[in-house]
Amino acid sequence: MSDIPTHARAIPFDEDGMIATDVPCIKCGYNLRGLDEGRVCPECGTAVGRSLRGDFLKYCDPDWVGTVASGLNWIMAGIAIGFVGGLITGALTRQSVAPPALFQGFILLLSIVPLIGYWRLTAPDPAATADQGITARRLVRVTQVLGFGLGFLTNTEILAGQELAEELVGVLSGVNLVVFFFAVLIYLRRMALRIPNTKLASSCQTIMWGWVILALAGIGGAIVAETLGSSGSGMGAGEAILCSTIIATPIFLILSLILALRLRRAFADEAKLARATWAAGIARPIAAI
Ligand SMILES: [Zn+2]
Repeated sequence: MSDIPTHARAIPFDEDGMIATDVPCIKCGYNLRGLDEGRVCPECGTAVGRSLRGDFLKYCDPDWVGTVASGLNWIMAGIAIGFVGGLITGALTRQSVAPPALFQGFILLLSIVPLIGYWRLTAPDPAATADQGITARRLVRVTQVLGFGLGFLTNTEILAGQELAEELVGVLSGVNLVVFFFAVLIYLRRMALRIPNTKLASSCQTIMWGWVILALAGIGGAIVAETLGSSGSGMGAGEAILCSTIIATPIFLILSLILALRLRRAFADEAKLARATWAAGIARPIAAI
């Protein structure tokens, strides 16, 4: 079964290139017979191509596709800010200069940048018909907001001294991160299939399972190291596994960033195509029906 959202049916066109059969608009059901494929539905403004060819991004609202593409810019900026912020915090901590509250507050404030990015990336398709991907899309939003709140609790002194609450926040943050991780990669894979770019879609899957294997190896290594360590065996298989996962992590981070860059470019290209289709559709006069 293919995940590509094509509408597999042959559409007959008349000698003028107009649709010569009854085709309902996928959004409003309007009969598109007699219309040009490059136009938009006169009732709801959905590109006719979307009803004819499939639920592809190039037939979607160009502003929406543009918003989705720009989400990845915000996310990338957020990663850069987080990285620099982390380095500065690390340096200050190493020099036994506790990061000033003002600086911490600033970093916390900047963590809103990736949140905006994920919000834009998962903007709802204004002409959504099939709800495919909606769960993943919503989950990305919910886990991002929850993660922002949990991050706030972790990075401020609110929970200082309340061990149980701190532990609970830690567990919740972990579960939230796992749910977010799967949701965002499933969502991105489905969006890649709407380009349609099967290579990018399978890259999303590869990165997803790569991280899962890496995380499982890390956890396994830590457990083995802990078990052997407590029995006094010192360096062993556990540490070796743990070390290799630590080495592999930056490699996976770079691969993930490359994937994000490729997706950003692909979505931006689709936004451009959508703009061309959309504008062409609106510019042409609507034929008398
Ligand atoms: Zn319509």
